[in-house]
Parts: sequence; structure tokens; C-alpha cells
Amino acid sequence: MSKIIAAAAIRGAHEIVSEARKKWQQAMDKHGSGAEVGFPETAYYLPIIYGLSGLPVRKLADMEKVFAICERLLPEPVYQKVHLPYLGPVLDAGMATLFAEEMAEAITYLEHPDFYSPEEEAPEGKLWLGAASDIILRKRGIEFVDGTAPGFAAIVGAAPEEKIAARIAQELQEKNLYVFMCAGHQGTTFAEQLKAAGMQLGWPVRLVPFGPDISQAVFALGFAVRAAMSFGGIQPGEYRKILIYNKDRIFAFVIALGEVTDRWYANAAGAINFGFPTIADSDIPQILPTGVCTYEHVVSGVPHDQIVARAVEVRGLKVTVSKIPIPVPYGPAFEGERIRKEDLFVEAGGTKTLACEWTSSLPLNQVEDGRIEVIGPDLDSLPEGSQIPLATLVQVAGREMQEDFEPILERHIHDYLNYINGVMHIGQRDIVWLRISKKAREKGLLLKHLGVVLHAKYHEVFANILDKVQVKIYTEEAAVKQLVQQARAVWTKRDERLAGMTDEEVDTFYSCTLCQSFAPTHVCIVTPERTGLCGAFSWLDCRGSNRINPKGPNQPVKKGAVLNQKLGQFEGCNNFVRQASRGAIEKVSIYSLMVDPMTTCGCCECVAVVLPMCNGIMTVHRDYKGETPCGMKFTTLAGTIGGGRQTPGFLGHSKFNITQSKYLAAEGGIRRLVWMPKALKEEIMDRLKKRAAEIGLPDLPEKIADETVGVTEEAILPFLQEKKHPALEMEPIM
Ligand code: SF4
Ligand code: ZN
Repeated sequence: MSKIIAAAAIRGAHEIVSEARKKWQQAMDKHGSGAEVGFPETAYYLPIIYGLSGLPVRKLADMEKVFAICERLLPEPVYQKVHLPYLGPVLDAGMATLFAEEMAEAITYLEHPDFYSPEEEAPEGKLWLGAASDIILRKRGIEFVDGTAPGFAAIVGAAPEEKIAARIAQELQEKNLYVFMCAGHQGTTFAEQLKAAGMQLGWPVRLVPFGPDISQAVFALGFAVRAAMSFGGIQPGEYRKILIYNKDRIFAFVIALGEVTDRWYANAAGAINFGFPTIADSDIPQILPTGVCTYEHVVSGVPHDQIVARAVEVRGLKVTVSKIPIPVPYGPAFEGERIRKEDLFVEAGGTKTLACEWTSSLPLNQVEDGRIEVIGPDLDSLPEGSQIPLATLVQVAGREMQEDFEPILERHIHDYLNYINGVMHIGQRDIVWLRISKKAREKGLLLKHLGVVLHAKYHEVFANILDKVQVKIYTEEAAVKQLVQQARAVWTKRDERLAGMTDEEVDTFYSCTLCQSFAPTHVCIVTPERTGLCGAFSWLDCRGSNRINPKGPNQPVKKGAVLNQKLGQFEGCNNFVRQASRGAIEKVSIYSLMVDPMTTCGCCECVAVVLPMCNGIMTVHRDYKGETPCGMKFTTLAGTIGGGRQTPGFLGHSKFNITQSKYLAAEGGIRRLVWMPKALKEEIMDRLKKRAAEIGLPDLPEKIADETVGVTEEAILPFLQEKKHPALEMEPIM
């Protein structure tokens, strides 16, 4: 350990702690010790403090204890004549730094609640996002767990020029890493540089501007601490486990651009606790012997064109970048890219033109592998701003290919095209909407390249079932029309196949344990009449995916003896769930919310909750941000019952499931539904009406209250009474 670094880090830590203390004392004088503090929409309080010390900071007064810890951790300043200090005291100084900064940030939230934008992307005129809500944590954290994002780069400071910043950011995006930004250098910040270079910022494109100061480094490390608690099942206070989880599971590192100040050193020391090394562009003393981090701790003097490669190497990250021969960058980091009207080169679908995409299988001799055809004009012969009809037909063949796999393959078109930098893709089938940016066109992107991507990804992901893939892209109105008609007939048949199936007619359900990577006791049992609670897996999908990957997360579950038909308890399901949850869950009802309901993981589309006073059940979907009659918002609900718990009275489910006939069957089905957000009701209205008519209550949809009627049980009850909602007449739900 270099004496210079140790001295600087410890000096920085002293400065940061004493300033935070001052800020706290002023806040106490101004707001009183009882003033509530915290980061927005989170159940983890100030997460670094909560995770590592177990202390929930709720009020200003709670900070006193934490400052006492900081002072215990802070080592004596290092003087030149003293011999080399050990790494330990420097790490402690780093921890004290993070605690103090987290408290200082909480006070910023108290005093300037509008400084940060709580959304995934800042609105016009704003830039800084601050602490991520638990919704963002769940949505994005999953990517760290399932490998779509290997980790994050925390960028501190600013590059010497915009162009260099943009290049570094894009290199990190191409490696699928998240880029967390804080602090500045020479009057500017990395985030401002990216913005000036015309780049989109925000969680959807993995470029996250936390804030302009070094203290916002705590938002990056706080995210890592929450990931360990939320996905690793680690309890608050188990600091050793949290640090080890991060060292082993979250591949993160700090890139310091610009002069490394004492405060930066103090934060770097904080990051080393997590096993996150610092790579700097400036010449500072290095800390090379390995210890806490997997490799070196601080590496300095790295040129900008090598800094990403060096960081990845130092952190020991193995990135598999699938190199697809197209003229623009490619990878999941570009999935959330938005293409605005002004940036638009061409657009298809989205109610403006006819468009569709369809994957279909053919006999082996009818597919020529690698053949990509564009039938009609390609981008090089279209004027800027065109709206074109577009049909993408992927034809596949393989000895192991089955018709059942077609929908699974087809659904992936969305991801694979969205990964192209400069392509925005929404929807599926004949409701697709595709936009291609001017920038992508300038770099040479053609429609042909969409085919190149689909060919490459299908082979990469589905190697065990596919031998040949060819792609035809139509841009002529008549041909598109014809293809849409052909495809619609196939889709109708596919849908009818599932819609016509009942749980009774099959003897096998399927499991899905994909979410166990972050909710270790969670098991979805997927039946013909109950799709998985994320909405992504129907029974047919699970069966298909099991055939594609027999050892994968979708296993057949023999129903076995019927233990209780009404609740949907089956001996085979119970045995499966008990074993797959490693004994955590004993019994599960497939059709009930009140008795042994299914577990809920973090990614459910909706949560249903019993409303005792109304003798009914409400449900709320993820996008609804407001209050609900059960007294909890969606975030709180998902935070409380998610994570693989079984909570009677609460149930995660998919949107589609609401209109499936076994939904809440044990409680009386949709007759019990007394409240749901207006937007959700509208979204599923066609199917809801149909289902209501099937059970002989065609006017049920109008009797279901929404937020315009009220967001408390007291407020909606008179409405239900006036409308004579059937739930009021049903047997007591509790
Ligand atoms: Fe699978 Fe259920 Fe997770 Fe969806 S929610 S991915 S069905 S385990
Ligand atoms: Zn899930």
C-alpha cells in the first residue's frame, strides 16, 4: 500500500465525515431531529448503512449512531514518519466515507427534493437521477443476476473531450455493462459530455447519471448493496456476506478520469471494500498487490483508448461479445434506446403502416441457410423520413425443430432487433413498430442487416434445434399485405390452441424456476389456464422451452392425485414445489389467493390483494404509480411479497391471467374483482368483457371501481353498493 494513497484516502475520509456532520447538525437545527429522511421508493432505507450495519435510518436523529460508527472507523491521519499503514485502516476510512456521504445525500433529498429525477430517464432540462427506486432495482438488478449485464463501471470525473467520453461509454455499452456516473473534472462531468455528444442517457440505455459530485458514488455502491440483499437473500447487517457477494457476483470497477483528489481516494477505498478496483487515467501511485479485489486495487496512467479493456482485465471479467457483422454496435445495452421523430430515418408499423413479423418452420430442403433477401426497396433507395410497409419473415428448419417452438423463436425477434444501436422495436406479430435512426443509416445500416442479426442470433441461441435459418424482408405493400394475412391465420390457430385448453384435460403442468436466480424459493407452476406471473410464459411456451432445453428452468410437473379441486391443490405440484423451493414451501394452491397461494417473485405484472371491507379483491399493475385501496402502492406490494414468499391474501399474477378462467377460482373468480387501475382495465377490456359475458355478468366491467372512484376501501364501497357489485353478495372472503 502506498503511503501517499493511504494518507490521501484517510485525509479525504476525515474531510467528508466532518462536512457531513456539519450538514447534519444544520439540518437538525432547521428541521428537528424527528424529520424523516430516506431515498425515494425504497424499502432499504439508506442502503449502504442498512446493509452493512443493519441500522435503518428513518429520521435525522437516527444518524447520530451512524456518525458514531464513522468516527470509530476513521483511522488517525498518516504522518510521513510513521511506517506504512496496513490496508485495513484505509478500508475502514473508505467505509466511513460511504456512510457519511449516504447521510449527506439523504439530507440533500430532504432539503432539495427536486434535485434528482426519480424516473428511469430525466425529463427535458434535467439530468441527475439520484438513488434508484426499488422498481428500477428489481427491473435492472435482474439483469445483473441473469447475466444480461455482467456488472457496472462507475465513472468518476470527466474525459478531456466529449468525443473521448462518448467512445468510452459506447465501449462499455458494447460490453453490456451499466455505466454509473458521478463527480466532475475541470468544470464538466462525464454525463454532460455524453449529452453534448448527442447520446441518450438513463437506465434504459445503461448510462446512468447519478449526480455531479463525488458523494453520489454512494448511489452506485448502494445499488450493489441492495442487489446483494434483494437477489442474494442476504440479511441487513451481514456485512461480510454483502461484500463477498459483490466481489464474486457483481463485476464492477471505478474509472477515474481526471485529477484524483483526497475525496476520490476516500471513495476508491470505499469501493475496494466491495472488491471494486479503480482504474485511473492520471498518474497516481498504484496499489498492485492483490488482496481484497480479485486483481489489482488501483491501476493508474492508463490511456483512454485502453482504459475499458484494462478495467475489464483488471476486474477479471470475461465478456462474451457476439460479433455480428453489421455496421453499428450491437448488444442488450441498446435495448432501451428511444428514437425520436427528429432522429428518424425510416419507420414501419405502429399504426402508421402495415407491418408484421413471423417465424415459421419449413422442411430442411426448403431453407437455404444464411440467405437474406430484401424484397422491395432497402434503406439506400428510400428518402429520409419514409414510412414503409414492412414484413419480416424468418424461416427456419432443423431436425429437432417443432411447430410448437415457432412462437418462442418469434418472440425473440423483439430482443434481437432492439439490441441494434439505432433500431427501436416495439410489439410483436402485426402490432410491431420499428424505427431506424438517421445515425444508424449514416453508418451504413440496411434492412438486410436485420436479417443478418436474426440469422446470427437464432443460430447462437437455438443451436440445438435449428440447422438452417433464412430471412425475407418485404417492403412492398402488396406483398406485406399478403404475408400479414397468411400469418394471421397461423396466429389465430396458435391462440385458439391455448385458449381452448383446460387444466383438467392435461395431466402435466410445467414449472418455471427462472426467477430463482434472485428469488431462491420462488416456483411458478404454469398451467393451461394460468400463465406465469411475469406474463412471458404460457403452458405451451413452457412445454416448448422444455423440449428445446430439457434440463432448463421449465420442467414437467405431473399433477398426481387431486387433493383439493377447488383450491387447485395437487399432490404432484406440492411435491415439486417443496423440492424446488428446498423445503421452504410446503403446499401450493394453483387457484387460490387466500389458502397457500403461489409464491411471488419480483417480476409479477400485477399483484392481487384481498379487500376485507368490500368482500372482494383488487389488483394493481406495475405501471400504476398511485395509491390503492389496500393502502400500499405497487412498489411496496412487490417489495413486501416478492422475493419468493407465500403470503395469504396477496398474489402476483400476469395481466393475461385476469381473464383466464381459473383466475382466483377458489375465491369466486373475477366476480370478486372490485378495483383495478383504469389503464389496466382499458388494456384488457376486450378480453374482460368476453370473460364477464361467459360467466353471465356482461356488465361486470362497469362495476369494477378504479382510482377515479377512490383509492381507499371506504371510498369505493358506496360505488360498489350502488352498482350492486356481485362480490357484496358473495360468501365472506375472510
Ligand atoms: Fe418463470 Fe415465473 Fe419468473 Fe416468469 S415469473 S420467468 S414464469 S419463474
Ligand atoms: Zn419473476
